[in-house]
Amino acid sequence: MQPQLPQLIPSEICLDCPVCCRFPEKQAALSPFFFPEERAQAEQLKPEGSFREAGKGLPSKAQLVACGHGFACSFFNPEDHTCQVYEARPLDCSMYPAVIMHSRDHGKVVVGADMKCPALKRPSVAARLGSYLDLIQRYLESTTLSSFIRKYPQFISEFQEEVVEVRELSLGKA
Ligand code: SF4
Ligand code: SF4
Repeated sequence: MQPQLPQLIPSEICLDCPVCCRFPEKQAALSPFFFPEERAQAEQLKPEGSFREAGKGLPSKAQLVACGHGFACSFFNPEDHTCQVYEARPLDCSMYPAVIMHSRDHGKVVVGADMKCPALKRPSVAARLGSYLDLIQRYLESTTLSSFIRKYPQFISEFQEEVVEVRELSLGKA
């Protein structure tokens, strides 16, 4: 469904970071969302991974499981901090720290950068953030993907205060 998006944050930084894939509560709203095609690909790689929506073929957020003092995505390997479906990880994960969300007044859909990602404070990363968000904006506004997002609006997160450099998305009409 998606071309390989370039990563903003180098893998060696992510593998040392305690933020992604882990959540403070089991029903965390920000657990990763899978479009149906993405879910099918992840289930092929790791059938024991689980989803909140039980029905096969439904779009769904990943189920979170107990991990340390909190919870983690059921595809996360706490031993080495890797994703067990890395080649098939969903767009929601591969574009992070770019996130798609509703504006505060719910009147717009926007994309921006989630400052919970500590790597965004690194000058080398911050210098590339604007062009990365431009790329993600163009990708999300592409005809194919914008029609997917209109079909599965659950992909769009609720407004988050920590998201900066916000740009409005034009997703067309149903
Ligand atoms: S929060 Fe940022 S640095 Fe940490 S794993 Fe996620 S993308 Fe990588
Ligand atoms: S699917 Fe992979 S990258 Fe995404 S939250 Fe789960 S473990 Fe992390």
